[in-house]
Amino acid sequence: MAARLLFRTAVRTATTLRVSPVKALTRGMAAGGIPTDEEQATGMEKIVMHALKEGSDPYSMLKPKEYAGSKEDPHLVPSITNKRVVGCVCEEDNTAVVWFWLHEGQAQRCPSCGSHYQLVAHELPH
Ligand SMILES: [Zn+2]
Repeated sequence: MAARLLFRTAVRTATTLRVSPVKALTRGMAAGGIPTDEEQATGMEKIVMHALKEGSDPYSMLKPKEYAGSKEDPHLVPSITNKRVVGCVCEEDNTAVVWFWLHEGQAQRCPSCGSHYQLVAHELPH
């Protein structure tokens, strides 16, 4: 904000004080403008930006899709092994988390609320 105000003031001063018309000042970086995030990104950040642009989420950075938790629409839990610990906050305002092991195969139920969870295979990106 302050930089923008100073920039405008400098342009106004430069244009009003000189007798001959002054070419408007260009934005930084030798008139190429300020590079965007995509132009500046390197390494892992660049890989993630390209993946998100293609619609994939290789590092599970986005909010997971919501499931009903019923037998027909169980919560899908990705895992790189054949089991995983799952924490279920059975009701929205609960302060305690019910932890249990989820194994490969059929959908399992939370021992407290009965929501269904199913393990799905997940491969880590290389
Ligand atoms: Zn539960």
